[in-house]
Amino acid sequence: MFLLPLGLIAVFLALWLMRRNSSLTRGCLWRLDRTVAPNHWRCAACGAEIDLPPGKAPRDCLKPSAED
Ligand SMILES: [Zn+2]
Repeated sequence: MFLLPLGLIAVFLALWLMRRNSSLTRGCLWRLDRTVAPNHWRCAACGAEIDLPPGKAPRDCLKPSAED
């Protein structure tokens, strides 16, 4: 039974890589709001809104990082 620890390591590695490639903060929940514009995003966590070119998705939370 040495596959279980290897699996856990793989999971942690994947999570770490995902964290590294994303600057999203924990509370950020971007939702596509097509009622405003074809590619209008609204953050359900902090209420930030942003319009992006088609096919683009926001990577950053616009919430001021005062809590950090
Ligand atoms: Zn946000």
